[in-house]
Amino acid sequence: MFNRFKERLKGFKEAVSTKIQEKGEAEAKKAEAERGKAEEGKPQSKTGPAAAEALEAKIPAEDNATKTKQSFKSRAKSLIFEQEVVLDEKDLTDPLWELEMALLESDVALPVAETIVASVKDELVGRKKKIRADTGEIVEEALRSALFKVLSENRFDVDEFIAKADKPVKIVFVGVNGTGKTTSIAKVARYLKDRGYSVVLAAGDTFRAGAVEQIEVHAKNLEVKLVKHKDGKDPAAVIFDAVEYAKAHHRDVVLADTAGRLHTNVNLMDQMKKIVRVVKPDLLIFVDEAIAGNDAVERARLFNEAVPIDGTILTKTDADAKGGAAISISQITGKPVLFLGVGQDYPDLVKFEPEWLLERLLGS
Ligand code: GDP
Repeated sequence: MFNRFKERLKGFKEAVSTKIQEKGEAEAKKAEAERGKAEEGKPQSKTGPAAAEALEAKIPAEDNATKTKQSFKSRAKSLIFEQEVVLDEKDLTDPLWELEMALLESDVALPVAETIVASVKDELVGRKKKIRADTGEIVEEALRSALFKVLSENRFDVDEFIAKADKPVKIVFVGVNGTGKTTSIAKVARYLKDRGYSVVLAAGDTFRAGAVEQIEVHAKNLEVKLVKHKDGKDPAAVIFDAVEYAKAHHRDVVLADTAGRLHTNVNLMDQMKKIVRVVKPDLLIFVDEAIAGNDAVERARLFNEAVPIDGTILTKTDADAKGGAAISISQITGKPVLFLGVGQDYPDLVKFEPEWLLERLLGS
């Protein structure tokens, strides 16, 4: 998962680490030179390499030559590693450029990439970093904190929402064909059943041949009621009936499928607006696939403009090497990610938690 993302971040991490090392060594040398100068004429209180040299001179050369050389080397090394390094903006210009490129190449949307870069810069500039500390860790920490901020915005607890909402909770799923919308409805049905809710499915994709049969298979597998119309062409009417059924039979949640559509298809976008007007969903969920990267984010933005969505489900995260859509989609729409699809089976649905995603984006 997200292998290319991790690969691309390596360049940035190495660039910062190298910069810290170089600066630390240069500053250690400078400090040593100054200390050496200041201590000239004060042989008793020598420290550092000067002291080591003085010490070396006192030790019988024949017996201890090798030992003393080693102790001098390790001492000089430890002085370098105790040096504190303060990174300034200039030091970070190249590494941060590298980071921005890595994020953009991973399909992170430009404004989101800029936010992350600014946040990493804030974390690193002006802070004293003991170069003795693991430089990789310092960079990792800065990245982690920047990504966490981005992923934590628009947080929404779907479990709490469903628990508190009046029943039946009406959830309508919209999106483009083939992205995993119907599979996600089935996964959510299973997720809710596992939590003790009764579920009704609505066969609201009245456009694509075979769509009703497809959701029917899921309904049978999951043993949940499916409301469909024989030869019905009006999805709003099907979903409306499913809601009436749920009310009459005291079911908790209605999950409604709709036809896949592109934002450019005016008729189908108008049909979607009609569904929203008639059904008044509690949640309108946009489904798209993580592997579509920037395209998924752009589609989410356009759907959200047409009919304000309440959140997204990103499918096929298991097959996504880049991570950009998962990082960007919530920032661009201003709406939360509710679930991530992580496979083709019913249990392959993960409730969105920034920590979970962060672990997969940055973890080994
Ligand atoms: P729809 O046209 O949007 O309703 O898409 P479908 O639900 O029919 O799914 C299209 C394909 O994507 C199917 O082969 C699904 O098994 C697959 N799919 C859906 N979600 C995921 C997911 O999270 N991971 C993977 N790897 N495949 C998925």
